[in-house]
Amino acid sequence: MRRSVRQEFCGGGQSCHCRPFPSPANVDLAQGTAKNGELTHMSRETVTVIGLGQMGSALAGAFLAAGHPTTVWNRTPGKADALAAKGATRAQSVAEAVEAGELVVVCVLDYAAVHELLDPAAASLDGRVLVNLTSGSPEQARETAAWAAGQGARYLDGGIMSTPPGVGNPASMILYSGSSEALATHREALTALGDPVDLGEDAGLASLYDTGLLGLMWSVFGGWLHATALVGADGVAASTFAPLAIRWLTAVAGFMDTYAGQIDAGHYPGDDATIDVQLVAVEHLLHAGRDRGIDGRLPELHRELMARAVADGHGGDSYARLIEAFRKG
Ligand code: NAP
Repeated sequence: MRRSVRQEFCGGGQSCHCRPFPSPANVDLAQGTAKNGELTHMSRETVTVIGLGQMGSALAGAFLAAGHPTTVWNRTPGKADALAAKGATRAQSVAEAVEAGELVVVCVLDYAAVHELLDPAAASLDGRVLVNLTSGSPEQARETAAWAAGQGARYLDGGIMSTPPGVGNPASMILYSGSSEALATHREALTALGDPVDLGEDAGLASLYDTGLLGLMWSVFGGWLHATALVGADGVAASTFAPLAIRWLTAVAGFMDTYAGQIDAGHYPGDDATIDVQLVAVEHLLHAGRDRGIDGRLPELHRELMARAVADGHGGDSYARLIEAFRKG
């Protein structure tokens, strides 16, 4: 079994002064030293980041800021310059990068690029933890998990629910699925990137949640842009409208919480607002939009779904009933 890179760093013998995971209170990150003068990097696990686009650079920067000895590699080598200036080690090849890190993070454009890079370096993955933060489908994640297991690596697939400036912020969710044991072992290092959320052993779940949540984001953006165009037609600035829109989303989140229970129970009591009532309300939105020359395709879709539910005899149910329309396509 491979010795951990942390042990290789210091020997791990009785004379070793390295302490595992010094608490932030003991660490001066800017100096890379503990307050009592010990070198903290000797007790931080080594990490590798492959892919230094906007996201990969942010990930490597967050590891460096947390004091992890960080090795980087990118197809276009110049993108490593800024990180090298902050203390990152440049690897000359993907295999060298993989061998330098106990934890190997890859974040490139797509899974085709992941395989293009890692397949020739597969022998180096034995005993490593591979964390793939590249966006893809659940099927690609499951296939890559099986491939990594065949190379002797433990695998985590991830979904970064942030843009690069949010990396390193504890409020940013990073979804993980695959080896829960690997996540537990490396939670401290991965916390440097954001709040790690463990979705369990099915490697496809992080991608599944990620794509679903992005769909939710686009729907919210669409509704917000439509509403902003509507009020904007009467001279309301987007920045005037936004605080009310954000406050309204908080209330909407509460409705979702209630409706999630109804969906799981398969029972949609219309005891807060019925589809019948909302079908009338969406006509007001369509009317106001038409008068102002606003594109009405989004509310027309909502009206169509509601009208179908009413025609099927479900007008007295809650809005959660429309899950059936999505399930049936
Ligand atoms: P980006 O800035 O365009 O960087 C793309 C990276 O992929 C670069 O390092 C690029 O290398 C590399 N790459 C592309 N094709 C390659 C190939 N055939 N072989 C080797 N390397 C290749 O994109 P990004 O924003 O960092 O996104 C990276 C991943 O993170 C994507 O899967 C994206 O969906 C995901 N993500 C991004 C965000 C975000 O807000 N940006 C948020 C969540 C998730 P070169 O530098 O040599 O071109």
